[in-house]
Amino acid sequence: MRIYENIYLIPSFVNCYLIERGDYCILIDTGTLKKARKIIHNIQTNFPEKPLEAIFITHAHLDHTAGLKTLGQLYGSKIISHEKEKPYIMKSEKMPARDGFIGKTFSIFSNLLSGTEYPVDQIVTDGEVIYGLKVYHLPGHTPGTIALEDLETRALFCGDIIDCNKKGDTILPPKKLFAMDYDQALKSSIKMLQASKPSAIFPGHGKPITEPDAAIKLYLEEYS
Ligand SMILES: [Zn+2]
Ligand SMILES: [Zn+2]
Repeated sequence: MRIYENIYLIPSFVNCYLIERGDYCILIDTGTLKKARKIIHNIQTNFPEKPLEAIFITHAHLDHTAGLKTLGQLYGSKIISHEKEKPYIMKSEKMPARDGFIGKTFSIFSNLLSGTEYPVDQIVTDGEVIYGLKVYHLPGHTPGTIALEDLETRALFCGDIIDCNKKGDTILPPKKLFAMDYDQALKSSIKMLQASKPSAIFPGHGKPITEPDAAIKLYLEEYS
C-alpha cells in the first residue's frame, strides 16, 4: 500500500516500509515470516522490475527480523545494520537483559526473540548517509537501534525508539517492557526528534503520522 511519496507500508502489528528508488527498492525491517510473503507480493505488484537492493534492520527483535533470511536469500539484498546490533541479528551474541524485574524475567526469552542467524553485510554509523537515508544511532531499546531519515522526503523511520497510537496522531514513548534501558531509550527518542525535522513519522508499531509537527511538539513538551 503506497502511503507517502515513494514509500509503501506493509502493515500488521509491526510495520515494514518499502522505498522505491530509480531502478531499485529498499526495505526497512522485514517483519515476520508471513510478512515476508506480503513484501514479496508488494514488490511483484508495484515494481517487479526493481530488485530489492538493500534491507535495513532497525534492531534485532524478531518481529523486525524474522523474514530476513527468506528475503535476503530470494533477492540477494545487502543487509545493513548498526555495528552494535549486528551480533544480535546474527545471533553470535545474546541480547542484553531488559530493564526492571519484569524485563529481566522476560529477558529469559530475549535471545529467543531476537535475530535470525543471517549475515549482516554492511554496518552503518551515526550521521552516515547511505541510499539517501541518514542514520541516527539511538541506543536504549536495544544497543544498536537505528532510525533512518529519507533526505528526499524527510520521512523518518523510527523502529521501536518511539511508538505511535492507533489513530496516527500521537507519538508514544518507547515501550518499557521491551526496552533494554528505558531512560536511555527515552533520551534517544528526544534526541531523534530534536535533531530531525520530519515531514512524516513512520514507527515500527502504530499508525504513521503525516504532518507530525503538533505531535512532535507535544511529545517534546511532555518528555524532555
Ligand atoms: Zn523492538
Ligand atoms: Zn517491534
